[in-house]
Amino acid sequence: MAKFMLEHDRPNCIGCGACAAVTPEFWVMDDDGKSDIKNSKHIKNEKGEIVLETLEVSEADFPKNKEAAESCPVNVIHIKKDNEKII
Ligand code: SF4
Repeated sequence: MAKFMLEHDRPNCIGCGACAAVTPEFWVMDDDGKSDIKNSKHIKNEKGEIVLETLEVSEADFPKNKEAAESCPVNVIHIKKDNEKII
């Protein structure tokens, strides 16, 4: 079965709120004004800042996260299918 990996380039998120409005099952706004993928893995730099959030999602959850990605005005939401970037 195909594996879908949702990725959020969090440092470049402008906090517009579109992803959380479109796909609240997976996206939430944080206190610092940026969005988060719920229950995601956080990849941090040496200063402890989050540089990337990732979450494996099922094929069934791909369409709604595709919608979130397409709603992002600065293209910081990406999805990989079997390790290949499709969005
Ligand atoms: S839609 Fe993009 S810029 Fe807006 S909050 Fe979500 S990730 Fe950030």
